[in-house]
Amino acid sequence: METGKLTLALTKGRILKETLPLLARAGVEPLEDMSKSRKLVFPTTRADVQLVVMRGVDVPVYVRHGAADLGVVGKDTLLEQGSDGVYEPLDLGIAPCRLMTAAPLGFDWPPRRLRVATKFVNVSRDYFARRGVQVELIKLYGAMELAPAMQLADMIVDIVDTGNTLRANGMEPLDEIARVTSRLIVNKASLRSHHGAINHLIDAIAAAVTDLKRPL
Ligand code: AMP
Repeated sequence: METGKLTLALTKGRILKETLPLLARAGVEPLEDMSKSRKLVFPTTRADVQLVVMRGVDVPVYVRHGAADLGVVGKDTLLEQGSDGVYEPLDLGIAPCRLMTAAPLGFDWPPRRLRVATKFVNVSRDYFARRGVQVELIKLYGAMELAPAMQLADMIVDIVDTGNTLRANGMEPLDEIARVTSRLIVNKASLRSHHGAINHLIDAIAAAVTDLKRPL
C-alpha cells in the first residue's frame, strides 16, 4: 500500500487465533481486541504495520494485487489459487491439517464417472488427473460432507484435522493429497520497494516461529 505502512492481511477464524501469538512475539500487537471488534482494519503497536482481516480465499487476492504487502493464509488456499505474484517465504507451522479425499464408510467405486464434491476444484482436478481417474467435479462452498449423504457426490476432497466431522457424517478419510499449514506470503513488487522493512518483519516472525516451537 502507498500509505507508508506495511499492511498484513490475516485469515480470520482458527488461523487468526494462532497467528496473533506469533505476531505478538514478533512485536506486532493490534491496539484493540480483534475478536471483540467488528472492524476490519487494525493499527498495531508498530506504527508502521497495520492488520486487515478477511476470509482466507481473499488473502492471496489482496496480496497478489499489492493491496496488502503481506498475508497469512493456509497452504490449501495457495495450492488451489496458485502463487502468481506472491512469494511464500515462511511456513508458520500453525493450523496444521490435511487435504484429503474422503467417502462414506464402505465406499465402492461407482460403475460410471466418479462424482467429487469440493471447494478445491483445481487441486482435485490435478490429483485425479495424475491418477488417471476420470471425475466430474462439483464445486461447493461449504459442508462438503452433506454431498454424499444427499447423493450429490460419491467422494469429497476436504480439509481434515481430527476427522471428527467426517466420522459424525458416516464418512472416512481415504488418501492424503497434501499436508497443510499456514504460510506467510509477500507481494513481489512490495518486497522490492520495501525490501528492508519487509525482510526485517519476516525475520522477526521467523524468530517467533522458532521460539514458540521450542519446548519450554
Ligand atoms: P475435523 O472435524 O477436526 O477433521 O475438522 C474438519 C473441518 O474443520 C474441515 O471441514 C475444515 O473446514 C475445518 N478445519 C480444520 N482444520 C482446519 C485448518 N487448519 N484450517 C482451516 N480449516 C480447518
